[in-house]
Amino acid sequence: MTTSSDLTPLFERAAREAARFRTGLRIRPVAPAVDPLALRAAFGSELQREPRPAEEVLSELLSAAGPGLVASAGPRYFGFVTGGALPAASAADLLATGWDQNALNPVLSPAAVAAEACAADWLKELLGLPATASAGFVTGGQAANTVGLAAARHAQLAAVGWDVERDGLGGAPRVRIVVGEERHATIDRAARLLGFGTAALETVATDGAGALDVADLARVLGTRPAGPMIVCLQAGNVNTGACDPIRAACEVVREHGGWVHVDGAFGLWAAASPATRHLVDGVELADSWATDAHKWLNVPYDSGLAFCAHPEVHRAAVSYAASYLVGSGGPGTPELAGGADYVLESSRRARGFAVWAALRALGRDGVADLVDRMGTLTRRFAARLAAAGVELAGEVILNQAMARFGDDERTDQVIAAVQRDGTCWLGGSTWRGRRWMRISVSNHTTTEDDIDASVAAVLRARSTVYALT
Ligand SMILES: *Cc1c(COP(=O)(O)O)cnc(C)c1O
Repeated sequence: MTTSSDLTPLFERAAREAARFRTGLRIRPVAPAVDPLALRAAFGSELQREPRPAEEVLSELLSAAGPGLVASAGPRYFGFVTGGALPAASAADLLATGWDQNALNPVLSPAAVAAEACAADWLKELLGLPATASAGFVTGGQAANTVGLAAARHAQLAAVGWDVERDGLGGAPRVRIVVGEERHATIDRAARLLGFGTAALETVATDGAGALDVADLARVLGTRPAGPMIVCLQAGNVNTGACDPIRAACEVVREHGGWVHVDGAFGLWAAASPATRHLVDGVELADSWATDAHKWLNVPYDSGLAFCAHPEVHRAAVSYAASYLVGSGGPGTPELAGGADYVLESSRRARGFAVWAALRALGRDGVADLVDRMGTLTRRFAARLAAAGVELAGEVILNQAMARFGDDERTDQVIAAVQRDGTCWLGGSTWRGRRWMRISVSNHTTTEDDIDASVAAVLRARSTVYALT
């Protein structure tokens, strides 16, 4: 048996290796050139019969995984909206792993639930949400959207006398789900999982930048009589960074009745800086909000947040009770609510420690600076490409830019060439029927030099591709 005093060398080695990897991110090729089959083989074939010492397992893991690790937490990874991890947040997450707390409820881990409660209060203030809103620490934007829409489903059907938690959706009054044309695909998946089905989605047109057209929202809402309805707004279009006009949209919805959910996976963070706050003006008027901590806040994966202006609705939709669960909140004991009452998981990782640590390390000014800096660096990236004659999709709104190289085929070739080069990593996207290189800046360690080196890599890739075609 291993006793706890034996853990120190093992844990120290794991932490040292993690630190070594992270410190090296700036100089390693961003994406590894790796054969997936060789990588799979390195993890082993048959599971052996006999146990193995933890030290050996760690050594084997380090050598098997090493070649397949991506520098996505590094300064020149501009794919998806990835974020990095602040040192304090990573250290707190190491503790969450070491402590192995179960954040289910205050009996299982008073500390985990208290850290979440504190971080939630800070987050609501930073993001401009009502101080009375409930918060669930979920796995990411997908889970947060699902929780938000579950709360919406509960409230909108309860308002017409239907108990969806008891009776399900069979025979229920129809719930309209109104979404922007350029919503994130996780909204569609939430609609599938919650039994609405994607055919239930009614789409609203978007403007040139990809934000919801409020006049078209009014038109869509006017096509049917009042009844249960959920309107999904977005802060931060994944292609353009555009934010829907939240205040105007909420006012239109208010006239018709209905629930407003805001998917602000990364865009909600605009609220944390005076320079960008106007982009999410009116955000406090919504009923539920989804955001990520693992994107713009730079906490380790996985970490998202589901907020709801109506805590009792939030609990009614997702909390559960069981005879052996003492000290949980739930509908009967709201004063004890927390932890699993606001999420889809039951037993779960103590994500609040890392979120709390990130906020404590940054402070309000640090969060605002993080938001501003990503915007400034994105504009620098875009401006340098534009100066070299590259076509861009429009003005930079937040931390997203899109570039195009002549036609779809060349654009994909330039993206592939940049990925092979290894200086930085950029993905592609299809926006309005055309291929684009998608640039997303969301890592706290990215500097102007990183941007300039990446622009140079993109222009090198362009020269290579254009020389061949
Ligand atoms: C990333 C993103 C999501 C999904 O978030 P995950 O954390 O990947 O589950 C949802 N909506 C938007 C707008 C996003 O950018």
